[in-house]
Amino acid sequence: MKKRILISLILCLCMTAAILAGCGGTKTAPDKATEAATEAATVDEAKSDGIDYMALVNKTHALPEDWEAKLETVHMTNSIGDDVEVEKKAYDAYLELKAALEKENIFVDLDSARRSVADQQRIMDDFTEKYGKDYALKTVAAPGYSEHHTGLALDLYLIIDGKDITENEDMVQYPEIWAKIHEKLADYGFILRYLEGREHITGYGYEPWHIRYIDDKDIAKEIMQKDITFEEYLGTASGAAVEIDLGNSELYSKDDLDAAVLQIKCRFASLDGCELHSIRYAGDSAVTDEKLAEINKKNPDGKFTQIAGFLMDFHTPKNTENTSLESDREYTDYQWWLARTADGGWEIVDFGY
Ligand SMILES: [Zn+2]
Repeated sequence: MKKRILISLILCLCMTAAILAGCGGTKTAPDKATEAATEAATVDEAKSDGIDYMALVNKTHALPEDWEAKLETVHMTNSIGDDVEVEKKAYDAYLELKAALEKENIFVDLDSARRSVADQQRIMDDFTEKYGKDYALKTVAAPGYSEHHTGLALDLYLIIDGKDITENEDMVQYPEIWAKIHEKLADYGFILRYLEGREHITGYGYEPWHIRYIDDKDIAKEIMQKDITFEEYLGTASGAAVEIDLGNSELYSKDDLDAAVLQIKCRFASLDGCELHSIRYAGDSAVTDEKLAEINKKNPDGKFTQIAGFLMDFHTPKNTENTSLESDREYTDYQWWLARTADGGWEIVDFGY
């Protein structure tokens, strides 16, 4: 029997199933702001060696540990009178975007931006106490895993004919206005974060209002023009020279296998410093009833019926922080297994030798 090495990431995989809700979900009750005008923002004290504006925070990538110590934010008051906290540069860029939109008679404001990990924990504790742990885990984003922790994720709302349109179900009634807003994002260093039909990658459904500041207009333009998610950009940015071999499959179409490879690349991007060399489809013959049974046994929540295996070659950095991988080693024929989810996407369910 082959010795199995499962990286610690597998734990994340199990957790993600339980984590829900990022933007739309639960909010803290906003402190009624005492400050006056929107533009009169005040800078928070202390900190900063600078944050990484390209940091990926999602359901499987936690906020970097020293983030909150480095973060510089401003507070503003929106048209409803709520206090909103935003990372400083992101706020400046937002004001420029807002001004540019106003020239086209499009009016927006900030519904929410930064939520601290502590705030999120308080919401989680509150919900756990009131409704039990299961419900809390299903309803509240896991503390540490919301992009709103960064201060770089902004939820916009629309102001139409002087009326605040803040509810998600109302905001989606204006696709043509959102399209005009999205067109301008990259010019100010923002991207649209949760694209339509990309839930299997981002973990969230379409949110036209959730934008993310990345502080690089060129990269923002590339991401918006290619119509890709931030995960996809980061996956492909580090994997430009990755050799892909999808072989000949009678079980899966090229599109199916491409989507699976994308998932692997995205996940691989979380292995800091690892260099990906190649990904090969393991072939239809690797898809056996035994393997399927093994995967379903390991993932008791997933009653999967379709799986696909891939072999990867990659190199670990000199000092890898991942305790399950050896430093400075070339891994070859390392296996990744994906299973088909109910929504037709892929989920990484197993990896190792
Ligand atoms: Zn959001």
